[in-house]
Amino acid sequence: MTWSIPLGRVAGTAIRVHVTFFLLLLWVAMVAGAQGGPDAAWQGVVFILLVFVCVVLHEFGHILMARHFGVSTSDITLLPIGGVARLARMPENPTQELLVALAGPAVNLVIALVLFTATGTRPSLAAAAGAFGTGNLVARLATVNLFLLLFNLLPAFPMDGGRVLRALLGYRMSFVHATQVAASIGQGVAIGLGFLGLLGNPILLFIALFVYLGAAAESHMVQLRQVAQGLIAGESMMTRYQALPLSATLGDAADALVRTAQPVFPVMDGQERLRGVLTQSALVARLHVDGPDGAVADAMVPAIPAIHPYQPLSEALRLLQEPPNPPAVAVVGPDDRLMGLITADTIGEVMLTHGVNNRPPVGPARPPGDRAAA
Ligand SMILES: [Zn+2]
Repeated sequence: MTWSIPLGRVAGTAIRVHVTFFLLLLWVAMVAGAQGGPDAAWQGVVFILLVFVCVVLHEFGHILMARHFGVSTSDITLLPIGGVARLARMPENPTQELLVALAGPAVNLVIALVLFTATGTRPSLAAAAGAFGTGNLVARLATVNLFLLLFNLLPAFPMDGGRVLRALLGYRMSFVHATQVAASIGQGVAIGLGFLGLLGNPILLFIALFVYLGAAAESHMVQLRQVAQGLIAGESMMTRYQALPLSATLGDAADALVRTAQPVFPVMDGQERLRGVLTQSALVARLHVDGPDGAVADAMVPAIPAIHPYQPLSEALRLLQEPPNPPAVAVVGPDDRLMGLITADTIGEVMLTHGVNNRPPVGPARPPGDRAAA
């Protein structure tokens, strides 16, 4: 159950409307109706519907440009805050991302220019009162398109401007680094907006929060997931590691840590089965309590989730992100034997490789001993 209602299909892309969108229509009808009677209520609803037609056209700007680069879009969902197009993947080179990101706002610019020319009006703040305004509906729609254009070009994720910024940075640095810098700039923009909002405009405060959270999300797991979707677990696991026997002491583990600088240690029983994972931090914390004679079995995280090597890497990422947030995901063969481990670190390294090479890496990650030199 996704709480969205399919409206139909245009050029191979399903258009869905989230149920909260109908709540927005109802709310606008009620507020406008209370102010100006049934006529105003209808005008408000028609206006919102027209705005959302413009939002759909904006999304189709992205979709058609992405298709031009061979990226398909399965669906777009209309939310009260705008449209969300689900691209199968993001284009990987800066020029493609730049053009895909700009294609949406470009549609609003064209609509605004056409409507302003057709009505012979100019942009005005009074016309921007939106759903509750009066006066020429078409002129107000033109102004809203101008607003959509500027709003979407804010240099902050999840706005298109954030992607434009990342694409521009992407000419000079790796994808990962460009994302981090773009996200930091976006959060700065959000703080600025929030400050302006505090000075008097509560809607700006709301937008600032939306942008701030969006930037944080973008810089972390969203990008990881996009990359992870195209890879399989077996390509992205660490395969060279030192394992600890279930009977090992914390002193043994500390020795192994000094030798290998490994972030996690698989703990194996006599049948070569994984019984748990010992993390560096758990080892250090437990050493203080139990001393070197303490048992690794007491300090390890038991019940590590396991996947098969041909499952998508995104599945491993999902398991790492979901409670109870295990420190690692085990990759096991058909006989349940451990083949490798996937941690946030190994996925991060895959991302770095991806950012540098613009293509999924093959073969196992570097041996963990090299990590300090990276
Ligand atoms: Zn857009």
